[in-house]
Amino acid sequence: MSIGIVSRFPEHLGHFTPAYYEVKGVTGVWRDAPTGAIPMVSIFGDNRLGERHPEWLQVGPDGEPANRHSRYFDWDALCPSHADTFERGLEWVRKAHQQGGDSPVRLDDVTFARENFCQCQRCKANAGAKGQPWDGYRVGRLLEFVEAAHRITPHLELTLFPDPFPGHLTRRFGLDIQRLSPYIETFVVPIYDLHYATTYWLEVLAGAFQEIMPKRWLIELYGLKVPEDALFKACQVASFYADGILVAYDNQLPKLLRIRERLGA
Ligand SMILES: [Zn+2]
Repeated sequence: MSIGIVSRFPEHLGHFTPAYYEVKGVTGVWRDAPTGAIPMVSIFGDNRLGERHPEWLQVGPDGEPANRHSRYFDWDALCPSHADTFERGLEWVRKAHQQGGDSPVRLDDVTFARENFCQCQRCKANAGAKGQPWDGYRVGRLLEFVEAAHRITPHLELTLFPDPFPGHLTRRFGLDIQRLSPYIETFVVPIYDLHYATTYWLEVLAGAFQEIMPKRWLIELYGLKVPEDALFKACQVASFYADGILVAYDNQLPKLLRIRERLGA
C-alpha cells in the first residue's frame, strides 16, 4: 500500500511517492513540473481554449455547448474530434513527457463531457464517414488519442470519472477501460468529498471499481480542509480496495505525514 499526493506545493512533493503535479489544469495555464513529480495534463478540459475557440467546444443534444456557463459543467470541454484539439493534446503529452523524464504522464479529461455529448457536426460526420454508430465512434476516438499518446511514452496513467455502474464509463464518457487497458499503466479514480463525514458511499464506489478494474488503480481523495480524522478514515477505507491512495490539494504537510504514519504506509 502506498500513499501519494497531488500537490501545488513543490516542497511537499519530495516527501511522497508517487507525487503528482498539475502541469496543465482546466484553466489552460502551463506550469513546469518540478523534478521527480509525475506531470498531470488536462487534455480536453481547457477554459482558455474554450473561450478563444467556442467552435471547438463539445456540443449537447440540444446544441448546448459544454462550457462552464452551462448547467452541467465546471469547466470547458473541447471536442476530441477536432484535429486542433487532438494535436494540441498530443503536444502537451510530449512536453509533459520531456519534463517528466522517466516519470509516467497522467492524462486528465480524456473524455466526453457526459452522456449525449458530443453531437457537433464533426463528430456526426466522422462517425458517418467511418460507418460507425455514434457511440462506437466516441469510444474509438478516445482510444485513438490514448494510442497516439502511448507512442510518445508507454508510461501513461488515466483519470476516470467515479462512475463504476456497469456500462456507464463507456456510454456516458466514451471510455472502454478494457480496450484502454493495454495502453495504460495505472488508472486513477478521484472520489472527492469536502468532509468525508461518512464513508459508506466511498466504500460502495471503491468496491465496485475493484470489481471492474483490469489493472493497477489508485483512489484519489480530496484533502484540503478535510478534518484529519475523517481523512484518515477515508484513506483506510479506500486503501482496502485500491492498489494505492492519493490525497489531493491538501496544504498541510504535517497532517499528511501523520496520516501516512497512522496508516503504516
Ligand atoms: Zn464533437
